[in-house]
Amino acid sequence: MLPKTLPFTKQQIDEITAKYPTPFHIYDEKGIRENAKKLIKAFSWAPGFKEYFAVKANPNPYLVKLLGEEGFGADCSSLPELVIAEKAGITGENIMLTSNNTPADEFIYARKLGATLNLDDITHIDYVEKHAGLPEIISFRYNPGPLKGGNAIIGIPEEAKYGLTRDQLFEAYKTVKERGVKRFGLHTMIASNELHADYFVDTAEILFELIADLSDKLKIDFEFVNLGGGFGIPYRPGDKPLDLEYISSRIHEVYEEIIIGRGLKPLKICMESGRLITGPFGFLVTKAIHKKEIYKSYIGVDACMADLMRPALYGAYHHITILGKEDDKPVKKYDITGSLCENNDKFAIDRMLPEIKTGDTLVIHDTGAHGYAMGFNYNGKLRSAELLLKEDGSVKQIRRAETMDDYFATIDFSGL
Ligand SMILES: *Cc1c(COP(=O)(O)O)cnc(C)c1O
Repeated sequence: MLPKTLPFTKQQIDEITAKYPTPFHIYDEKGIRENAKKLIKAFSWAPGFKEYFAVKANPNPYLVKLLGEEGFGADCSSLPELVIAEKAGITGENIMLTSNNTPADEFIYARKLGATLNLDDITHIDYVEKHAGLPEIISFRYNPGPLKGGNAIIGIPEEAKYGLTRDQLFEAYKTVKERGVKRFGLHTMIASNELHADYFVDTAEILFELIADLSDKLKIDFEFVNLGGGFGIPYRPGDKPLDLEYISSRIHEVYEEIIIGRGLKPLKICMESGRLITGPFGFLVTKAIHKKEIYKSYIGVDACMADLMRPALYGAYHHITILGKEDDKPVKKYDITGSLCENNDKFAIDRMLPEIKTGDTLVIHDTGAHGYAMGFNYNGKLRSAELLLKEDGSVKQIRRAETMDDYFATIDFSGL
């Protein structure tokens, strides 16, 4: 079984919590940078390989900037996410807009930034032309429908609101070609937290075949294919991480066979992963503030599902380490709870853990993606701070905790 490790010691966290009160998310810069380099290395065979980090997964501009320094672009799906990419110094075609049900202002801003538009529907051709003008390069999102199975988080493609059907794609590329678009990309995203390597190879094969068919039929050349996100991470101690070298080498084989084999122009391989990039390198640090014994044993912590919604939303497993008790035996079954007036506000249910005392520090693992990002203010809960554990061991606050003034900022009390 693969152990779940921490990039910091209890002593380090004790020093940090003396300065920054819990709860907070802390991100491991070294881990993120090494991980980014590993991905780029795995795809070094692929001409112009590019990962557009899915800003949705962790919209902290400091992290987006750090990833930009490693050569990543940004995948955005809202106006504020476009601004985050811009502030982080990611420019032009290094920004991809993969949104759906997209409002006009988003297309307009994306065009202003020179971002690549990845359209979610055939009707968006007219919509973009009307509001923002058609750009020189366009990508469309493919929904393979019954051709491909989904999973619990993302659902099955036929039921998903995203993308164009296969027939619509032929129509869409033909239309934009006639209207002067010169450069083309194709995208799909049909998995979420998928840990089966072959899933991504199959997806690449479906897209390469489709690109070959579209190129033949419409006499166009494709510049890039975007394999989407959805690459899973090992949340549970027993989970095996995806073997990126394996995925890459299998995709390489399929690339040779289809893209090179059918005489197509070199095709850039792109991805827009979020979870895979930052997920394992974030930790929610929280303290036990109450112990409660009724029909079950509860540990109440100072974080709640407003800081990490995945367990409540998907029943997702997040590993928990009690700092200083890493080697203690799990002797007691606990529910680890937040303070929301919702019974699903639990980080763990029936989890065997070492004996916990109030004042103990709990570290909830793998909160680097879809953690802080999914936060909310229900029940008057304020969002936590975010810290960056830098490569030199120092700590930088990259977002302060919300205050009550932030919470009330949109209310004008003088009108009461
Ligand atoms: C959510 C999302 C991603 C990132 O998903 P991960 O599971 O974090 O890799 C990428 N692209 C699109 C369009 C998304 O909606």
